[in-house]
Order: sequence, then C-alpha cells, then structure tokens
Amino acid sequence: MKKITIIIPCYNEERSLPLLYERLNEVREQLPQYAWEFLLVNDGSRDNTLQIMRSLRSRDSQVCYIDLSRNFGKERAMLAGLDFATGDAVIIMDADLQQPPEIIPQMLKLWEEGYEDVYARRLTRKGEPWLRRQMSQLFYKLLQRFTRDDVLRNVGDFRLLDRKCVDALKLLREHERYTKGLFVWIGYKKTEVTYEQQERAQGNSSFGFMRLLTLAVDGITSFSTAPLRISTVIGLIVSLVAFFYMCYVLIKTIILGGDPVQGFPTLIIVMLFLGGVQLLSLGIIGEYLARIFNETKNRPVYLVREKEGV
Ligand code: UDP
Ligand code: MG
Repeated sequence: MKKITIIIPCYNEERSLPLLYERLNEVREQLPQYAWEFLLVNDGSRDNTLQIMRSLRSRDSQVCYIDLSRNFGKERAMLAGLDFATGDAVIIMDADLQQPPEIIPQMLKLWEEGYEDVYARRLTRKGEPWLRRQMSQLFYKLLQRFTRDDVLRNVGDFRLLDRKCVDALKLLREHERYTKGLFVWIGYKKTEVTYEQQERAQGNSSFGFMRLLTLAVDGITSFSTAPLRISTVIGLIVSLVAFFYMCYVLIKTIILGGDPVQGFPTLIIVMLFLGGVQLLSLGIIGEYLARIFNETKNRPVYLVREKEGV
C-alpha cells in the first residue's frame, strides 16, 4: 500500500486546524487505497495550536506532529516536514484552507500516471489585497529577468512531490530558503493542476509587507547573482562616459584654452549621484556577503522540541 504524507506548517492556526482536519478526513475516506500520514509542523505558535495537534493525535493515529523550538518561518517548517515525512508521496499545504484539499485526488491521479512534481496553480487570488497582488507581479517579473530558471507565477507551495523530489529537497539545506525556487531547481517531471484560491478560513495572513519583502530579497539573492553584475555594468558605463568626457575636455583645452572654474551645481550633482551608486553597489555586495556569513555558520536549519508519531 502506498503511503501519502500531508505536510502542514502551522503558525497560530488553532482555529483553522480542526476545520482543515475535517476536510482532509473526507478526502482520506474517498481514497482508502492509500495509507495516510498527516504531518503537522508547529512552527512556534503562540496560541493553542500545539494542544489541538495533541488532541488530534490522541483521536487519530494517522496524525503526527513535530513541535519546533521556536518560530523558524514557513520555509524552514516545510523542510522539517520533509525531513520527517515517510510517505511515497508528499503533499504540502497551508493550514488556513486557502487551498482546497478536494483537488488532492486529482494530484494523486497524475502522480500515478508518472509525474513526480504535481504543483497547483491558483487561478484567482481571492482574499489578497490589490497592492499585494501588484507587488507580487512586479517581483515575479524581476525574478524572471534575473534568473534563467522559470519560477512559475501563481504557483505556491501547494503541491505533491514524489519521494525522489523529497530526497532531493532534503539535500538542499540552505538557511535563507526560497522553497518555490528550490522546487524549480531540482527539476523532475512536473505537471500542474489548477484551483480557485479561497479566502483565509480564520485569522490573518502572517506574511506582512516586510516579511514578503524579505522573502523577495531572499528569492532574488539566493537564485541569481545578476544584481552584482548590474553593479559591474553601471560602473563600466560610468567609467566609459567619464573617459570620453576627459578626451573631450583635453582636446578642447588644447585648442580653445582652459575654462576658469565653473559648474559647481553640476559637480555636486555628479558627486552625489556617483556616491549613491557606490553605496547601492556596496549594499548589494553586503546582501550576498551576509548570506555567505549565515551559511558558513553551519547551524541547523531548525530545532525540534517534541515529536509524536514520526
Ligand atoms: N506559517 C508557518 N510559519 C510562519 C508563518 C506561516 O508555518 O512563520 C504557515 C501558516 O500557518 C500557514 C502557511 O504557513 O499554514 C501560510 O501562511 P499564511 O496563510 O499566513 O500566508 P499567505 O497564505 O498569506 O501567503
Ligand atoms: Mg494563507
């Protein structure tokens, strides 16, 4: 009998979790030909999420949970889930019911047909403010420019992964994780299913503006060194312009004689502009340096306080 693990990272989801469990249960009853494992990862919630997990576990032996020692963020919580999952296929989904569990049978069907990574693409982004949608579109455009890998738009972490993909992802143990990019990086045979994104069942999204911005910067810096190259290109252009201007001034001085000192405003503008470009380039280098620093510390990506059933 093939075993399917469903990984659910949870951060303050005390109210959605019981609802999600009910919905998953219905799916499980439809598909008795599989063995199931509901792997809940408590990512340092500050509410009663852990107690709920415990009570689900006591009622249902197919539920198991991992309690992380603090809030490590969704990306790392997902890695924790992948590390402990034992299924032949793994499905990752959010706890907030924005993703309908009812498309799981469809995913499993495609998996049985031989696809190794069945991702779900959302057709609508209900329950997300306009500005956030625009920002996310801008980010994907940038990312697509910067990277050769095609990070797919409107594809989140909701997907089914074959054991092969899971083992591959477990090898990628970077700290600043951008899992959406990692899914692309590992390759394997992919296909898509589509779904309508729902409103969040309960509570609020824990990804505020700053958190999304950090994720965006992580996404770009961990998948592309293009920003570094942009600094090089700007430097090159500025140097070339300066060189030609120098030639022009030299020749003009020889033929027409020198200028008395003039042009104070232009001088200041050029200085400030170049100063700005230099600081920006330094900042970009700093971003990459910080990443190198964090990775070389070689700390574990997450820590587990308690685990049950895994
Ligand atoms: N999540 C998590 N750790 C965090 C933040 C979020 O495990 O630090 C989980 C959260 O419980 C949910 C999923 O990640 O199951 C997606 O979070 P959310 O719904 O807040 O994000 P959004 O859907 O707005 O992108
Ligand atoms: Mg959500």
